[in-house]
Amino acid sequence: MKQRKIPLRKCVACQQMMPKKELIRVVKTPSDELLIDITGKKAGRGAYLCGKSSCFKLAKKSRAFDRALKITVSPEIYDALERDFIKVEDDFLAAKDTVDDDEDE
Ligand SMILES: [Zn+2]
Repeated sequence: MKQRKIPLRKCVACQQMMPKKELIRVVKTPSDELLIDITGKKAGRGAYLCGKSSCFKLAKKSRAFDRALKITVSPEIYDALERDFIKVEDDFLAAKDTVDDDEDE
């Protein structure tokens, strides 16, 4: 039996360590834009957040992305991201159930 290492990441809002696939990645692109990266593969510095809107609200309140990504994120950007987050949340939850265990690291 080979033991699998599950990659863990910390949610920037609630500070919990979670398996990567339970988290939504927010990425800072090379042009300093913040995007929700549901594939987890976009280039740039990333911050992870539980796939829950409550954690997004917490991140917004505590300006967690500012700290995690070392940039100033305006309230407008938090609002725009929150809208995107809510949009992807359902897809994310649905995809999670169908994802098979294909991580071989
Ligand atoms: Zn969280």
